[in-house]
Amino acid sequence: MKNNETTMPFFQEVEVVVIGAGPAGLAAALSVQKEGGRPLLIERSEELGGILNQCIHNGFGLHEFGEELTGPEYAQRFIEQIKTQRVPVLLNAMVLSLTADHELTVACAAGLLQIKAKAVVFATGCRERTAGAIALPGVRPSGIYTAGFAQKMANEEGYLVGREVVIYGSGDIGLIMARRMSLEGAKVRAVVEIMPHSSGLARNVAQCLEDFDIPLKCSTAIAAIHGHTRVEAVSLVRVDEQRRPIPGSQEEISCDTLLLSVGLIPEIELPLSVGIGLDPKTGGPAVDSALMCDQPGFFSCGNVLHVHDVVDFVTKEGRQAGVMAARYAKGRLGPVKALPLQAGEGIASVVPQRLRCETQEPIPLFLRAKNVVRGAKVILTQDGRRLQETYHRILLPSEMIQTTLSPEAWNPQGGAIEATVEGNHD
Ligand SMILES: Cc1cc2nc3c(=O)[nH]c(=O)nc-3n(C[C@H](O)[C@H](O)[C@H](O)COP(=O)(O)OP(=O)(O)OC[C@H]3O[C@@H](n4cnc5c(N)ncnc54)[C@H](O)[C@@H]3O)c2cc1C
Repeated sequence: MKNNETTMPFFQEVEVVVIGAGPAGLAAALSVQKEGGRPLLIERSEELGGILNQCIHNGFGLHEFGEELTGPEYAQRFIEQIKTQRVPVLLNAMVLSLTADHELTVACAAGLLQIKAKAVVFATGCRERTAGAIALPGVRPSGIYTAGFAQKMANEEGYLVGREVVIYGSGDIGLIMARRMSLEGAKVRAVVEIMPHSSGLARNVAQCLEDFDIPLKCSTAIAAIHGHTRVEAVSLVRVDEQRRPIPGSQEEISCDTLLLSVGLIPEIELPLSVGIGLDPKTGGPAVDSALMCDQPGFFSCGNVLHVHDVVDFVTKEGRQAGVMAARYAKGRLGPVKALPLQAGEGIASVVPQRLRCETQEPIPLFLRAKNVVRGAKVILTQDGRRLQETYHRILLPSEMIQTTLSPEAWNPQGGAIEATVEGNHD
């Protein structure tokens, strides 16, 4: 879908604005419409689909469709529904600012638009950490890119960013790019990871590194980048458990390209601009179990809420945000008392951060473990009482834990609920 389906007047009132048309925003806008609300989906790029458009490998949609689709195929299933259900869409349109009473300023080809909404869904995704963000030591010749940029160049523009590659960080995008660059004829000399384990999905380590004989160097950091106009080599150093360099462990690898896959950061400028509270652990807005932020009528889903590893859960979250935003816009959902859900021993982050006491439905919870734990039990407790426990053969910090809290399990009149992990730590 390349053209806007609506010719927008310079001021318009809608019920729910969804910002961002990746999988989260597509699902949210469809749900708003299904729930009887009037959505407007706003996307800054010229096409719907978000980051999925550049993810041409398969592995998407196993939960949602029971099939292995590529990123664009997965997105297309929702884009078709947007078309057939005539969900209003504004493309090439960037939301520049918004106010606490849901008034948005949007820049598009026609000029600046003012849009007044009853509810707003943030589905703006995330961005990649750069060399500056991680204070990467060494000089900055050409040949240093984020892995996502290299992915976009290869898959959307048809350019290979280099021939001899070192990848720093073993997040999923880095692993997938190791395979992609190899398939295109580049030599991937190593994937370097500062942690003692990969920070990507186990299946991606097997399929993208082991199948291509690409070495994964864990507990290793980049100590220096060499080169004048173009990267010529990188120096690696082994690090101890405190990430301190181990003297004498340095090695140099020649390469013309360094790809960075060192983490994703939620795109939180818009929520921040209206003073929405963030969770320092996820980097995204703190939400209640209706995915509502701490300011009424603002909802959040997908990678802007917390960085996901599986797109199917992004879609699920987008749907929930859409339903809740439509209910809010119709006056059927308001701010209510909520109990905190806290990350306890062994848990890095939890979403949602607050549980609405009125909730009658099972609440989906997303948790991340701090460390690798084998034979793990994820335990939810309230006022010293165990509410539920789930067993996991292995928990990895890179893999999200999804569980559900049933409404009968907890006491809305009680204290905070805490998630903890027990098991054998590596
Ligand atoms: C570079 C990169 C590569 C990835 N590759 C993979 C992969 O290979 N496999 C995998 O499983 N997952 C991958 N992911 C994870 C992937 O992001 C999620 O699975 C999922 O696509 C996130 O969906 P989303 O809708 O939350 O965000 P996105 O798909 O990022 O969509 C957000 C949308 O919001 C739009 N937007 C942002 N701000 C504004 C604004 N102010 N106004 C208007 N529009 C705005 C953006 O243009 C974008 O289209 C990748 C992520 C990144 C960042």
